Amino acid sequence: MEKRQLGKTGLEVTSVGFGGIPIQRVDQDQVIKIVAEMERVGINFIDTARGYTVSEGFLGNALKGKRDKFILATKSMAKDYEAMKEEVETSLKNLQTDYIELYQLHLVKDMDDYNHVMGPNGAYRALVEAKEAGKIGHIGITAHSVDLMMALVDDMPFETIQFPYNLVERQAEELFEKAGKRGIGIICMKPIAGGAITNGTLSIKYILQNKNVSAVIPGMEKVDEVYQNAQVANGNYVFTEKEKTEADKIVEELHGNFCRRCGYCLPCTQGINIPSMFIAEGYLTRYKMTEYATKYYAKQAVKAGACIECGECMSKCPYHLPIIEKMKQVKEVFGE
Ligand code: SF4
Ligand code: SF4
Repeated sequence: MEKRQLGKTGLEVTSVGFGGIPIQRVDQDQVIKIVAEMERVGINFIDTARGYTVSEGFLGNALKGKRDKFILATKSMAKDYEAMKEEVETSLKNLQTDYIELYQLHLVKDMDDYNHVMGPNGAYRALVEAKEAGKIGHIGITAHSVDLMMALVDDMPFETIQFPYNLVERQAEELFEKAGKRGIGIICMKPIAGGAITNGTLSIKYILQNKNVSAVIPGMEKVDEVYQNAQVANGNYVFTEKEKTEADKIVEELHGNFCRRCGYCLPCTQGINIPSMFIAEGYLTRYKMTEYATKYYAKQAVKAGACIECGECMSKCPYHLPIIEKMKQVKEVFGE
C-alpha cells in the first residue's frame, strides 16, 4: 500500500486509513476481525474519537498484540484544560496503550471556540502537557469551516488538520494547498460525504489525486470494505474515462441536495444550527446509527421543528439547498 508523510510529524501513514465512527454499530468480535484484516492488507493508520462511544474501547481490545503495527489518532471535543486532561487519560486507557501518536481537538467550530481552547484554561494546554509527558506524540485539529481554517492556517501550532473532502465537497482545496506548504498533514474525513456517495472507492481515488492529502479515513464496519478500500491505495489515481463520467454524474446528482456543512446559511433567525440538523439526519437515515444520531440530535439546543420557514437561510446557501423542505424532513424523522 502507498504510504505518505503525515506532514512534518515524521509519521508515515498509509494513504488509506481507518475511520472509527461506524464500528459503534457492530460488536467487539467484528472489530477484532476488521483490525486483523487491516494488519493483513497493510493499513497502518487508525482514527477514532472519544465521542464515538464504544469505538476507542473496541479498538483497544482488538489491538492487543498488534499495537506496534498501527499509528493511532484520536480526538476529543473537550474545550477546557481539566476536561481535556481527563480525556487523554481515558483515551489511553480505552486504547490500552501508554502512547497515542496523534491527539486532535475535535471540531473547533468558530473563532470564539478556537480562542477558548487556546486560552489559559483551554484544552490545548492539556494536550501540550500530554505531549511533553510523552503520552501523545503530535497535536492536530479537526474542523468543518473553511473560513475558520483559512484564517488560522498561516500561524496555528497544529501538525495536522482533519477536514471533510470528497467528490462533492471540494471547498478545502485552497486550504490544503496552504497547509501543504507549511508541512501540515491533511487527513480527509467524510470521504463518502456522510453516506451520500454510494461509490466509495471512486471518491477515495479522487481524494488521493490531491498530493496535499496525507491520508483519507473511510469509516469501515465490514471486513471486505477494508480490503476494497485498501486496494485503492496503489499509487495510481488517474480516472479512466468511465470513472470520470461516473464521478461527474455523482457530482451533478448531489449538487443541489447535499449539505457541505459550510455554515454560510447561519445564523438562522430561530437559532437552529442548520448543518447540524442535516448531520444528525445523515447519521440516522444513511448510516443507520440510531442511538448516536438520537443523542446528537438531543444535544441540539433548537430543533428542526422550530423552523418558521422565513427563508432567510435559503438565499445564503451557495449550493441552493432547499433548506426549508429538508428541515421538514429532519423534523419528521426525529419527531420534533
Ligand atoms: S427558514 Fe427555517 S432554518 Fe432557515 S433561517 Fe428561517 S427559521 Fe431558520
Ligand atoms: S445548508 Fe448550505 S449554506 Fe448551510 S451549511 Fe449546508 S451547504 Fe452550507
